[in-house]
Parts: sequence; C-alpha cells; structure tokens
Amino acid sequence: MLIDAGLSYRALRRRLDGVNVDPDALRAVLITHAHVDHVRGAAMLSRKHGIRIHATAAAREAWGKGADKVAGWESLAAGRPVAFGVLRFVPFGVSHDADETLGFRVETPEGAIGFATDVGQITDDLVARSSDCRMLVMESNHAVELLRVSPYAPSVRSRIGGDGGHLSNEALAAFIREHLGGQVQCIVLAHLSRINNVPALAELICREALTAAGRSDVRVVVAGQDRPTPTIALEALAPPGVARPAHRARQVALPFGSASAQA
Ligand SMILES: [Zn+2]
Ligand SMILES: [Zn+2]
Repeated sequence: MLIDAGLSYRALRRRLDGVNVDPDALRAVLITHAHVDHVRGAAMLSRKHGIRIHATAAAREAWGKGADKVAGWESLAAGRPVAFGVLRFVPFGVSHDADETLGFRVETPEGAIGFATDVGQITDDLVARSSDCRMLVMESNHAVELLRVSPYAPSVRSRIGGDGGHLSNEALAAFIREHLGGQVQCIVLAHLSRINNVPALAELICREALTAAGRSDVRVVVAGQDRPTPTIALEALAPPGVARPAHRARQVALPFGSASAQA
C-alpha cells in the first residue's frame, strides 16, 4: 500500500527499490489530496503497474489532466473505511486548502497508525482519530519564526501559516503536550519544509514537548524529502511507559543567514 505518490515515477521506483518493494506488488495507492507534491508520479505508477488509485471525487476532479492516465479508480470518502487484507484504512477530513484533504487511520493487527501530513490546524476529529494509535505520522512543516522571516512572498507565508495550510513545529508540540494518546510509541515528523524548517529543530521541539508531557518512552523519527525513512516495525516498538535513552540535542544551523532583511 502506498499513501500518496508525490515524487516523480523514476524517484518513486528508486525509493521503492531502496526498501525492497516491487512496484508490481503494490495493491493500491491512496491519495490524500490532489496537490502536486502528493500526486506527481501517481498516474504513471498506476498505469505502468496496473495499480488502482483510491481518491475522493473532489481530488480526482482537481487532479486535472494527469488523472486521465490512471489504470483504475476507486472512490474514497471521509468516514468510509476500506480494507486491504488485514489492513483497514479509515479516511477522515483534515483542515487544508485542497478541494478535499484526507488523513488516514490505518488499523493493523499490531495496532493503529495515524497519518496526517497536510493539516492547517489540529481539529477535535484529528485528536479523536489519533488518540489510541501506536504510531503517528504527523506534519511538522515549519518553524513559526523561520516562516516569519522566510524568503516566501507574504501571501504564501500567510497561506502556509493559516488554518488551511500547514502544521508548524509549535502547533504539533501543543498537540503532543495536550492530546498525545497514551499508546503512542513512535512519532514520525513528516512534510518538513526545506526552506522554513530544519530537521534538527523540528526534532528538538517535538522532544521538548514529549518531555513536558512526561513521555520519555516515545521514539521520534524525522522523515526527509531526499531519503527513505528507516523502516519502523510496529511490533518491535517498546511498550508504553518504557523510557528511551536520553537524546542529546545537536547545534542547529538555520537554512538562511540574513533573511531577516526580507521579513
Ligand atoms: Zn497540500
Ligand atoms: Zn503537501
């Protein structure tokens, strides 16, 4: 199963190879929304390997021309679960400025995974869907202060920082302090901006929030745009309450030096 296919087909092939997944073995691609960073290689992947694309009617409509080349469609709708063998995907709506954007709660025999990568704000529904997950893949898009001084145009900055944009490190930290479910044993920080964030900073803010919440038992993994994330085995995660070794913070280098002049 693949959630989204935002890399080019070639890059997708290379990444799948890197984790020993034969694309012909993929059973479906589930699309969160039709922004290009989520669908870029999806149609070609679908066509070349006969993989069906699962998307909402709104996403299919917004996709544009590329959608014509898809091998086959299945419809997705918030609140309507779909099952693939032992996996059950429960799509739910999140706050983002695409025509319709989904997060997923993926139920497996080893526990549930919460997946939400383009979320302008934490909603009650997102809190509820993730409360008993064992692992969360959550957006940690930007640092509020780096976005403020970023080279992006003011209109883009306010779109990113708005309720229909992307989740900041700080907003994710507030979610962790206030709402993190007791079963969560691993958080994957995802959809990091290359311009408005720094992986080590996102990780630091997440770890500080976990410490504030008294959760030294949670593993933190930062997903990067340029490399596959290490494979995480749900069944191998430590049970809740078992403290992980203390993490040593590193010095953080910021992505741009004198950008304050553009703020
Ligand atoms: Zn998006
Ligand atoms: Zn995105």
